[in-house]
This record gives sequence, C-alpha cells and structure tokens, in this order.
Amino acid sequence: MEEKKVRVRYAPSPTGFLHIGGARSALFNYLFAKKYNGQIIFRIEDTDIERNVPGGEKSQYDDLRWLGIDPDESPYEPNEKYAPYRQMERLDIYRQYAEELVRRGDAYYCYCTNEELEIRKEEQLNNGVKAYKYDRKCLNATKEQIEAYKKEGRKPCIRIKLHDHEKIEFDDLVRGKVTFSSDDLGGDFVIMKSNGIPTYNFAVVIDDHLMEITHVLRGEEHLSNTPKQIAIYRMFNWEPPKFGHMTIIVNQNGKKLSKRDNNILQFMSQYRDLGYLPEAIVNFILLLGWTPDSNKEIFSMDEAKEEFDPKRLSTSPSMFDQQKMTWTNAQYIRRLDDARYLEFIKPFMGKALDLSKYDDKTLLDIALLYKDEIGCGNDIIAPLTNIISPSEVEGEEEKAMLALDTTPKVFKALIEELNELKEVNPENIKQVFKNVQNAIGVKGKALYMPVRLALTGVSHGIELVNIIKILGKEEVIARLSK
Ligand code: GLU
Repeated sequence: MEEKKVRVRYAPSPTGFLHIGGARSALFNYLFAKKYNGQIIFRIEDTDIERNVPGGEKSQYDDLRWLGIDPDESPYEPNEKYAPYRQMERLDIYRQYAEELVRRGDAYYCYCTNEELEIRKEEQLNNGVKAYKYDRKCLNATKEQIEAYKKEGRKPCIRIKLHDHEKIEFDDLVRGKVTFSSDDLGGDFVIMKSNGIPTYNFAVVIDDHLMEITHVLRGEEHLSNTPKQIAIYRMFNWEPPKFGHMTIIVNQNGKKLSKRDNNILQFMSQYRDLGYLPEAIVNFILLLGWTPDSNKEIFSMDEAKEEFDPKRLSTSPSMFDQQKMTWTNAQYIRRLDDARYLEFIKPFMGKALDLSKYDDKTLLDIALLYKDEIGCGNDIIAPLTNIISPSEVEGEEEKAMLALDTTPKVFKALIEELNELKEVNPENIKQVFKNVQNAIGVKGKALYMPVRLALTGVSHGIELVNIIKILGKEEVIARLSK
C-alpha cells in the first residue's frame, strides 16, 4: 500500500496577531512537514464570529511568512482539491455531513433553548451530579413535540449522539497512550449551532479529513477535544490523523502564559517592531518545547529542518524566558554581515538620528560600535539619543573640569582645527588633538574631559572620534562655541 503523504496544518482563529504559542504550533508543524517531505496547510478557523478581528488572518499569515514559515496551501495559495481554506466559506460542507449523521441516527436535532438548558443543568447539579450532561430530551422527543417546537419558530441545533461506555484511546506523539471514556465527554455535544455554524470540534474533523491531514500537532489545551473529535471520526468510519499535544508555555513563575499578561511580549509583531530577527525568534521558539540531543543552542531553519525529531518534543511545560530570547537575538545580530546589519539597524538609528545627514559608511561605523552590545535593534536608540540630546553636566568634579581656565583656550583651538578638517577618522582626530596640545600646551584629562563634557554632558562613553562622527563636525563646533 502506498504511504500517505504527510499533510499537517496550522489552523488559527483570526482573533488577533500571531502569538508565541501559535508561532510555536506553526513552526513545529512546518518542521514536521519538511522532515517527512510533506505539506503544511494554513487554514482559518473563523467560526467564532464574534471573536474574529479584521486583519487578524492577514497579519497572522504575514507574520508566519516573516518567520520563514511558508505554507504550501492557504487562502492565498489554494489547491482546488481542498479549497476553500476559511471555515466560514465551508458551511454547506459541514451541514451536509451533519445531516448525514442525523440520517444515520448518529446525531439529532435539539430544540431546547438556552434558558431551558440552564434550568435543567441547575436541577442536575442540585441532585448531586458532578458534571452536567445534556439529558437527551430531544433525542427522545415525540414527533408531536418536535412539530410544536417548529411551530413556535424554534431553530434547532444538531447534537452528536455519543455511544455509551466507549473507550477512546490514542497514541499521542508527545505523551504516549491517552485514554478517555465517551461517558466523560460532557454528554451529547453540539456539532452544528442553530445559526448554521458548526462548532470547532465538528468543523475541525470534517476539514482535517477532507484536507487529508495526517498529523495534528497542537497545544495541550486541545487534549480534551481530541476524544470528541475521535468519536466523530468513528461515526463516519474515517481514520483519524495522528495527534500530538505540545505542553503549555509558562511564564517564569510557572503560570500558563496568558495573552492578557502585558508584562510579557507575546506577539511576533511586537518583537519585529523592537528589532528581533526572524531567524532568532525561530531558533528561540524551536527550543521552547523541543530538546536537541546535543548542547547546541543555535540552529538555522535549515538545521532545524534537518535535526527536528518529534520524539524529542518536551513533555514538561516550556518556560518562556524573555532574557533567553534577547540573548538568542543578540547572537544572531552579531553574526550579521555588514550589509545586512546596516539594513537591519538603519530604521532604529533613524529614531535617534537624522539619517539624511550621514552616508552609509558613517552609519555603519557608528552602528558597529554597538553591534556587540545590543540585544535588539531598539537598544541602539537610547545611546544615540543621549549623544544627540545630551544631559546637563552634573557632579562637582565634572563642573570643575569644565570650569578650568584652560578650557576656553582648548575649545577655541579645537574649533580652529576642526574647521580645517576634511574627514572625521581616528587618525585625523588624533592629529587634531595633538595640534591643539602643541599650540596651547594643555594635555591629558584637562584637554579631553572638557570636550567630552561639552559634547555629551557625561564623563564616560564611546570614544571621542565616534562622538564627533555621530554629531558631525558642524554640531561639534556649535556645541563647543556655546
Ligand atoms: N483554531 C484552533 C485554535 O486556534 C486550532 C486547534 C487545532 O489545531 O485543532 O486553537
């Protein structure tokens, strides 16, 4: 028999930007597909219509592509055999399958209203049941009752008719054998809502089956959905895909990462805006739930494709450590060649400097000063801004240095020398200071410190030549003249 081609999917709800957990699911599915020469599908699960946000789908898609995770099929690159890729465009398909289950007696229409359900739930709980289950009232309804409901204008939903006492077992790719009983699934759950929109558990089965998905790798929060989905596969006599549930991502206090926790940056777009490199994020996320069999910490996407092994997906929660993310990013920044580094860092420099005043060579010289120090692009803004907009001189010692009676002479001589200067480079600046020293006989600290203080307001920092480069000759002369 021919081996089935591996097909996996990343199936977000378009409820917001690409989140770290979503990016992790997408990455692992992508690596899984690549490892087995398979395909990855980007599918939109937009049936929870109140939660959809405009632009949610496109931004997720764009962020994925930015990370280097290119789906083989998506709403933007459909394969006609499987399209459409948005669930809200597939409502007819779900309806047909749901009606098929009704015809076979595996599902039934339910006319109960929410208010009625609430009352009976309350009753059940008062009678001491631990977990509420739908009481199958409509399964046992007479024809007359149903006619009466219809006359009232009630619109039914469709509920699955679960088999009683059925063992549902599967081999999870991450956690091994997992066993449930059909009795513990919360009763006959709804598969089609009365508004004609399927529930997640139903739509996902129909789609995974029709799209020939072979493996489902998703977050642990879906573990309890899997037996419900398998129950549906069984009713259709379809072979379920293999499932793997990745462990939750926790914060440094061991708490599950919450999208509402604003202390942690969780969205890919936030990292992009701060100057994190996509390849660094991929590397970081790779190690968020997967352990290589060596101590290696830096993986390119190609190496990740090569070495990824689903058997090594972690079974304990993965801790999201923002410092580690920044460390990883710093490693990647250091590895950029000059051209890429400049292209990457320029927009951030532009938040501190007027870029039109500099040529690329000067910008690169300045940027290289910080290359080994920054954790992300954004980190270059503050030190440059401090030079462009210096603070007032503070501290007694500093003020005393500025007040030396040699200082005006130093500034005057320096201004004259700078006026003659053709190019700011280390040799020329060294020569300039040598000339000043020879002309007025001031040297050492009394020569350099007042200049540094007049230019930046502080007594430490990068080399004077670089400060002059950043400020430009005219600005240096202006500051000294003041
Ligand atoms: N739309 C679901 C989610 O965003 C996907 C779950 C699945 O992969 O089955 O969580």
